[in-house]
Amino acid sequence: MTNPLYDRLFAPLAGSDAPLLRFADGTTLSGDAFLAMAHRAAAALRVCGVTPGDRVAAQVEKTPEALALYAGCVIAGAVFLPLNPGYTPAEVGYFLVDAAPRLLVSDPRAVDASTALAAAHGTRVESLDAAGAGSFRRLCERQPDHGPVAVRADDDLAALLYTSGTTGRAKGAMLSQRNLLSNAETLAAAWRFGADDVLLHALPIFHTHGLFVATHTVLASGASMLFLPGFDRDALLRLLPQASVLMGVPTFYTRLLDDARFDRALIAHMRLFVSGSAPLLAETHRAFEARTGHRILERYGMTETNMNTSNPYAGERRAGTVGPPLPGVEIAIVDPEHGTPLAQGETGMVLVRGPNVCRGYWNQPEKTREAFRADGFFVTGDLGYLDADRYLVLVGRQSDLIISGGFNVYPKEVEQVLDDVPGVRESAVIGVPHPDFGEAVLAVLVAEPGARLDARADAETGRGVAATVAATETALETVLEPALEAAIRAALDRSLARYKQPKALVWVPALPRNAMGKVQKALLRERYAGHFADSAIAAR
Ligand code: AMP
Repeated sequence: MTNPLYDRLFAPLAGSDAPLLRFADGTTLSGDAFLAMAHRAAAALRVCGVTPGDRVAAQVEKTPEALALYAGCVIAGAVFLPLNPGYTPAEVGYFLVDAAPRLLVSDPRAVDASTALAAAHGTRVESLDAAGAGSFRRLCERQPDHGPVAVRADDDLAALLYTSGTTGRAKGAMLSQRNLLSNAETLAAAWRFGADDVLLHALPIFHTHGLFVATHTVLASGASMLFLPGFDRDALLRLLPQASVLMGVPTFYTRLLDDARFDRALIAHMRLFVSGSAPLLAETHRAFEARTGHRILERYGMTETNMNTSNPYAGERRAGTVGPPLPGVEIAIVDPEHGTPLAQGETGMVLVRGPNVCRGYWNQPEKTREAFRADGFFVTGDLGYLDADRYLVLVGRQSDLIISGGFNVYPKEVEQVLDDVPGVRESAVIGVPHPDFGEAVLAVLVAEPGARLDARADAETGRGVAATVAATETALETVLEPALEAAIRAALDRSLARYKQPKALVWVPALPRNAMGKVQKALLRERYAGHFADSAIAAR
């Protein structure tokens, strides 16, 4: 009679005085104390009527109580369904209908809106706030420190994580005990986690990265984590000297590099920096090494598959790649249209197979059929190729592929050229409707701070090329050194065939990103959908 996740990740905490969670104020919570919280949460879930296999939705801030709620779900055999606290009641309504959770634990501010919705769907609602207080906590306080552990099989569901999907309705990836545990073991070994490690945990826990990659790796290795409510650069700079590993999204690293206090001395005893969830610019990789002497370890995964590939701990960490497949994980590259295998070095659809891959999409058998091939490989939707040493290079999502005048343009290839031009901080290359080409390549650029001139200065000197900047809230007028656009054009001419070159450059103060630091290309496509139609009209 077992519960694999509990037995391997949580049971070992029993009787442990060693800190599991460390906080910014210097206080700690021992493994044993956390386990007691988890058992109280499990008992509270049972009081709420939760039985094994029931879904428990949580739309709460990142607190130890929220993490204990997840652990409580493992103990009670429930399926944990974390939701971004930023979702509106209408968005939450969709998950209530789709997943029909027995219980929704919600921030008190959202409880009123949720209760009406939940009542209509037979879901009970309890509250838990950013300080870990609320009706759910009060219920937990009345429960015993230990109790029964639900029996679960390897294939039983442990979590339902909705993908951030950019199109269509969100899909709930069904993650089994085996999916999560196999990846926890693999990552703890691949990244050489040990009991002395202190992970600086600044990621959200409603997403696979912070919830599973970070937390499970710590639990699987007897390590501990400095548990921060979110990313706060000052807090990170203060706490890095107490940590040995940082897991982050690329924006963590660019924000740290933007601060002169982030230097070699500060991280003298850090042993590992991991990046994932969005592409790390090769330039960031190099700048980080120059500043710190560390090479960031980039890995690749997704909600549906957990982690698939990782640059090696001991071997070469190659900038611009996400490394070879993790042990036990198979990667194949096939023709996106016909599904036939492609030769090494050829770009195609990335497929994944292994114990890490989810069981399919909740309530969406059709989508599950589309996502899995008969041979068990999962179609990731990511395009990429394997280099000569089987390191995977991702070139973008298939949905981001641009087909201009019948030719395929991989955004990353263009973005790399743009990002390498001095004065360009970052770029996002998208395809937007074009009267002649069907789709045209458009580059959305962010300039290095010093590269922009003030609009007034331009008016006085008559220098510069005026470019309209579509800022998120306000439209600003920005003027760029003509030299910068000329340098970009020259770099494009040198490196890329004409059909791959952007037909327009637009400048923005920052790229729109989601909570995981991913550039929201769908939003950019929407924003610039009329760009060429509008310019055609303007040209008339
Ligand atoms: P999510 O399900 O939110 O974790 O998003 C998964 C997607 O993020 C993948 O399918 C990739 O497109 C992207 N992704 C994750 N890690 C990386 C990485 N290291 N480099 C580039 N893209 C990544």
